[in-house]
Amino acid sequence: MPVVVTMKIAIIGAGAAGLAAAAALSTTHEVIVFEQGSTLGGLWQENINFTDTPLYPSLKTNLPIQLMGFFDFPFTQEFTTPGEGDYPGPEAVAKYLSAYANHKRLVSLIRFDHQVIKVAPESTGWRLTLSKGKDVDVDAVVVCNGHYTQPDLPQIDGIELLPSPPLHAKDYVDPVRFADRRVMVWGSNASGIDLVREVSDSAKQVFWCGHGIDRGQYVDDLKNVELCSDPQVIQTGKIILTDKTELVEVDDVIFCTGYRYDFPFLHKRVLSFSPRRVEGLVQHILSDLHPSLAFIGLPYLVIPFPLFQIQSQWLAAAFAGRVDLQAARGSSPAVKPYNLQTPQGSDRHFHRLGETQINYLKELIKQAQLDPLPARFLSLIQAVHRIKQDHPTDFRTISLTQMASPDLPHA
Ligand SMILES: Cc1cc2nc3c(=O)[nH]c(=O)nc-3n(C[C@H](O)[C@H](O)[C@H](O)COP(=O)(O)OP(=O)(O)OC[C@H]3O[C@@H](n4cnc5c(N)ncnc54)[C@H](O)[C@@H]3O)c2cc1C
Repeated sequence: MPVVVTMKIAIIGAGAAGLAAAAALSTTHEVIVFEQGSTLGGLWQENINFTDTPLYPSLKTNLPIQLMGFFDFPFTQEFTTPGEGDYPGPEAVAKYLSAYANHKRLVSLIRFDHQVIKVAPESTGWRLTLSKGKDVDVDAVVVCNGHYTQPDLPQIDGIELLPSPPLHAKDYVDPVRFADRRVMVWGSNASGIDLVREVSDSAKQVFWCGHGIDRGQYVDDLKNVELCSDPQVIQTGKIILTDKTELVEVDDVIFCTGYRYDFPFLHKRVLSFSPRRVEGLVQHILSDLHPSLAFIGLPYLVIPFPLFQIQSQWLAAAFAGRVDLQAARGSSPAVKPYNLQTPQGSDRHFHRLGETQINYLKELIKQAQLDPLPARFLSLIQAVHRIKQDHPTDFRTISLTQMASPDLPHA
């Protein structure tokens, strides 16, 4: 067994990913978490001000709390307001993360109001330049800066001809401003699905543009929503779609087209990345070029907090020399799809795990010899998947707590 050398580790960001990383690494190492804001929780911070965040007042979680929590700190109803059920609003998630940080004694590790401006490699380790105070030298850096702050706005010819500047899902606050308007919503991911339903409450007509999933099931009951293909070009007074349909008199356009990865504090020589893909990472986590530089939370279409926790535990094992990095790099065919090879063949989906996430987690667990995934977690995933398929529009009303199902063993 290799001797574990205690390192000084900087974690960038005190959101759910940063907290998971701090919990896994602080038992062995000296950890400092740099957080640019004045509270922990990242997206899910307490007393959230809904401007400049992808969250909005009426948002409910898209996963039930039973799946959202870290494995060793269940997300129970005690964090929710009575009547919220299994899919609460942002306040409950903020309370949960705050309680987790207290339970794991992480708060004293966080330096609030410290933005990391620059991370530069030194002969041994890294030098961090901060928004205030002296530079800090550390042995390793774990980047947990989130990836829901930089909207990815696709380029479309003629976009300047729209009657009002396009919005991104990040700008959405409530449906009031769309009252009696004709609105185009573009994008079929989770926020596209939620916002189409929200906006249709007050809009005169919603044109839901996109492709890929069976979108009809989400709006069958809504008379004022029309399914459309992707926009191709915008001309004065009309939006021409890929199937050559023309949408006219569209008042507002909302892009639900995702976000870009961004690491403004890292030089391109240290890390090569495009808006949708971070290059050269072992298992989406550890830099191949700089094995003391790591990332927690890059994958999407996942169950985030449990994934952050397993990634962090894998990283702790890798730093301790307990992971065979050569094997983890992708020499095993079972690892390849989640590793340096592009899943689904395009940069755009490089970090998208979706249905492959369980195999990804199992690989990490095997490589780092971690505890297996709890059986209840796996059966909950199946149960929730089935509920969402059977009840695409009202899955949030179905309580897992009260469900008597042979698939749901007791915790
Ligand atoms: C609309 C929406 C709905 C979602 N719904 C769910 C859901 O229902 N359930 C679920 O589990 N997940 C959901 N998610 C996914 C969500 O991303 C994760 O739950 C989680 O919040 C991501 O945590 P994170 O720590 O990676 O990022 P964040 O929460 O964004 O935290 C990143 C932190 O890093 C800090 N930071 C950034 N740059 C710097 C810097 N240079 N220096 C210092 N600090 C820095 C930020 O201030 C922030 O505190 C949703 C996401 C969105 C956008």
